[in-house]
Amino acid sequence: MPNKFILIAGPCSLESEEQAFKTAEKLVELVKPDYFRAGIWKPRTRPGNFEGIGKKGLKILSEIGEKFNIKPITEAGSAAHVNEISRYNLKSFWIGARTVANPFSVQEIAETVKNTDFTVFIKNPVYPDIELWCGAVERFLNAGISNIYAVHRGFYPFEKTKLRNIPRWEIPIELARRLPGIKIICDPSHIAGKKEFIREISQKAIDLNMSGLMIESHINPKKALSDSEQQLTPDELAILIKELKYRKNEQEDILFLQTLENLREKIDVIDFQMIDMLEHRFKLVDEIGELKRDNNVVILQLERWKKIIESRLNYANEANVSREFLLKILQLIHKESIQRQNNIMNT
Ligand code: PEP
Ligand code: MN
Repeated sequence: MPNKFILIAGPCSLESEEQAFKTAEKLVELVKPDYFRAGIWKPRTRPGNFEGIGKKGLKILSEIGEKFNIKPITEAGSAAHVNEISRYNLKSFWIGARTVANPFSVQEIAETVKNTDFTVFIKNPVYPDIELWCGAVERFLNAGISNIYAVHRGFYPFEKTKLRNIPRWEIPIELARRLPGIKIICDPSHIAGKKEFIREISQKAIDLNMSGLMIESHINPKKALSDSEQQLTPDELAILIKELKYRKNEQEDILFLQTLENLREKIDVIDFQMIDMLEHRFKLVDEIGELKRDNNVVILQLERWKKIIESRLNYANEANVSREFLLKILQLIHKESIQRQNNIMNT
């Protein structure tokens, strides 16, 4: 694992002194994480589920921090939580996906830690709204907090998938583009929902140059009071951490750089060609729009649209361009074409 890679591990929830100490001891022995995580205030979708042991967990967390020389971290959902956290000398907290969706709470928490040296981890909001996620980060930047990490934990899946939350990798990539100083780590546990998918998500996060991982680990996952299906034992986590392939950030080898540059130049040319082709195509679309307008014919010609899809999908070699991807592109182009013809018809 590279030096600067940060690892946060620990149970979803702190359930008892014994569970927390045993988990921490094993984790420190086997994986040496930078942070020991454990939720003590749990945001549950329905009342009546295990809601965490509350502030008495802070004493346990701070004892674990001292005994094992590890940074303890928990979730804060309100200014009151943050005040409790600082009374126990914890130096970091994370803000959960549900809280990040509420700018009032985020602002209130940011004001509570104004100009302190807290390290704040900001999960993405439950729904895929890049503005909301960036906005939460900005509230802490404006409050003078310089140790900020964004945590990618996936987004609510409106359609059923094998994963608990859909990754939508383009969203953390966009956050990295907009806020280049902010490090992003991945929480594969809440994306996966089941422990068998944690490896592939973790590897993808590493391949996308994320700066670390937050992974749920419990001494006895089967007995866990929350998120039992996605928690790894410390032994399983140790194997995972060892088997992940860590990539280099950059490569200085001259041959590598030249080859990369050559390939990138070719891609640049193709991208500009694609833009020229689209311009060309839309000119023809406009001409058809004028023809339809002058002859008072409807825009949508279903038979033609069906033929376009069928012939293009048949033409593409599935091995090189997937049908699913091509269909999405054709639909986008078709939508834009209808929009243009609509303008022509009605102005
Ligand atoms: C958690 O980390 O246990 C948690 C509740 O996460 P999220 O806010 O991402 O759902
Ligand atoms: Mn959890």
